[in-house]
Amino acid sequence: MASGFNPNHPFTGKAKHDLGASSRRDSDAERLVTAGKVEEDDAVELKLRPTHLAEFIGQSKAKQQLAIALEAARSRGEALDHVLLFGPPGLGKTTLATIIANELHVGFQQTSGPALQIAGDLTAILTNLREKQVLFLDEIHRMQPVLEEKLYTVLEDYQMDIIIGQGPSARTHTLEIKPFTFVAATTRPGLLSSPLRSRFGILLRLEFYTDDELRFIVERSAEVLGVPIDRDGASEIAMRSRGTPRIANRLLRRVRDYAQVRAGGVIDRATAMAALTILEVDAHGFDELDRRLLRTIIEKYDGGPVGLNTLAAALAEEQDALEEVYEPFLIQIGFIHRTPRGRIATRLAYEHFGIPFPGRAATLFE
Ligand code: ADP
Repeated sequence: MASGFNPNHPFTGKAKHDLGASSRRDSDAERLVTAGKVEEDDAVELKLRPTHLAEFIGQSKAKQQLAIALEAARSRGEALDHVLLFGPPGLGKTTLATIIANELHVGFQQTSGPALQIAGDLTAILTNLREKQVLFLDEIHRMQPVLEEKLYTVLEDYQMDIIIGQGPSARTHTLEIKPFTFVAATTRPGLLSSPLRSRFGILLRLEFYTDDELRFIVERSAEVLGVPIDRDGASEIAMRSRGTPRIANRLLRRVRDYAQVRAGGVIDRATAMAALTILEVDAHGFDELDRRLLRTIIEKYDGGPVGLNTLAAALAEEQDALEEVYEPFLIQIGFIHRTPRGRIATRLAYEHFGIPFPGRAATLFE
């Protein structure tokens, strides 16, 4: 049955899909391991969000690069160069943007590509900025192209041309914008035009987290939430979090509920496993669509290669959702490969479903 794609959802409807078609239990399981935000996340995320670089776990490369740039900007007393953060959802892009503002002791303002509809929206935000503050723009790849062009000059010279009046009496006026630090985030860096990309002095790629890093994050979050958890319990949650802190924190909250009701409030491995089994989160943190995607490649397309658009049609899903939310993790853990002729399922994917791997040397090297 076709899923209900919601174009308004920032991550292409992932959190909301299938709500009408599947049982309530299915939809709960899906929402649990989506890397996109679901409504209940907002308040808790705020509480769990690290506020300084020292508390930000993992991403050592990005952190190191940022620490040096922050120190240099501080010592020169200038605004930090513009920063582009990219990587799959839930890995800490917004968190890093707020950390940048905190570390520089400057103001922070947040908006997003889809929220800016007309030039006036952008002008209003830019003209109200305070000197050196951080302006964070999420989902920059969804910004209107005309606004993107306006941004070029702002980011380069802190000037913006606006047209006042209409017809023959219209004239151009140049607005001076206070120097600020622009921090933009995207899950799809490939969609940014090269003039826009070239305006960023600092490019930070966020990677999926290791199980150990996620265990630290779970332990830290448990401490903030006041939930007793042992190392094994935290590990069990970490392993099923698809390399994503947002999912780790969400699973922790659900396991906590179970622990409070059934296990005296303490999370150990047995409690975590029991809770995650009830929640239908499997050993890899796969949700129903991950499984459907892999099985479709294996069963309908003999393991691939199959093009992304064909796959999206077969799954009745948006191509964007597959590319931004699902594929990155499946590729990262080696369950699918991206080839010029399409996606293929690997031996690991076959083994996961207990399906004998046919081998495909011939098709791969044709
Ligand atoms: P994104 O903007 O990339 O979608 P967020 O910055 O909103 O992701 O991160 C989602 C949540 O994950 C945050 O609220 C925070 O609690 C947690 N988180 C992300 N990165 C880290 C990290 N490195 N250490 C600890 N918690 C993190």
